[in-house]
Amino acid sequence: MTNSQLPAIIAASHVTKHYNQTYALAGVDLSIGLGESLAIMGPSGSGKTTLLHCLAGIIRPDEGVIRLQPTDRTAAAEITSLKDSGRTALRREVFGFVFQQGLLLPELTAEDNVSLAAMLGGMTRVEATKHAHAWLHRLGLAEHLGKRIGQLSGGQAQRVAIARAQVTQPVVTFADEPTGALDSRTSAEVLTELLHSTVGRGSTLVVVTHDETVAARCSRIVRLADGRIVSDTANQSAVHDPARDQPTVYRSAENTR
Ligand code: ADP
Ligand code: MG
Repeated sequence: MTNSQLPAIIAASHVTKHYNQTYALAGVDLSIGLGESLAIMGPSGSGKTTLLHCLAGIIRPDEGVIRLQPTDRTAAAEITSLKDSGRTALRREVFGFVFQQGLLLPELTAEDNVSLAAMLGGMTRVEATKHAHAWLHRLGLAEHLGKRIGQLSGGQAQRVAIARAQVTQPVVTFADEPTGALDSRTSAEVLTELLHSTVGRGSTLVVVTHDETVAARCSRIVRLADGRIVSDTANQSAVHDPARDQPTVYRSAENTR
């Protein structure tokens, strides 16, 4: 098995989770590097979402230990033994989340969705508004700040979801099928923005995907089957290159300076 060459940010050992007779995870060992883009692949039902939720402290595994390693932003923590309040704080302040859909509040504007996340992460309203604007501008949504999520296209809504996830500058961003509902061109653009805003600033991206073209752009690919890791491959050709991975919206903004 290839282990990450980067210093670990999350280390999981012997993680199991079962639902009735079904083992969703049947003993997973995984060390995730700081600055890594890790794709988790595998057939439907192989345990991808369960693994992501365990790593992120959303659900607690039946057995095993998941540790958050110390960084300049975080103290060491054993995620699996934290109380609910500790796991909630981690999810708000240290982790970011982008799902296929569902995390954004459809009745709120793009701006309010992002600033609400920033306030939950500990910012004052003034700071939160400032950072929400900055992220939405960065993601090419300057003209859509006041629109409700329901008025945006799928690709625009996913850009809001990225802004929402990144406004607290999370150390690890977890994404579950973030491009699953998008056409291939929009999917590629959204993935570029997701990579740029996470590994582009030295943080970690963990992305569950069915899409080989998404995985091919990540620096490491882990495949699951029946709740176990069956392959773990470094993908050197996909290591983030700021020049190549610069989203077109930023390039055009820079060209006009
Ligand atoms: P994937 O994301 O790879 O499609 P999941 O992690 O969602 O897989 O599910 C792994 C297995 O665990 C599947 O057999 C699924 O039916 C089962 N499972 C997941 N979540 C639950 C749950 N909340 N209750 C019962 N079974 C579940
Ligand atoms: Mg899933």
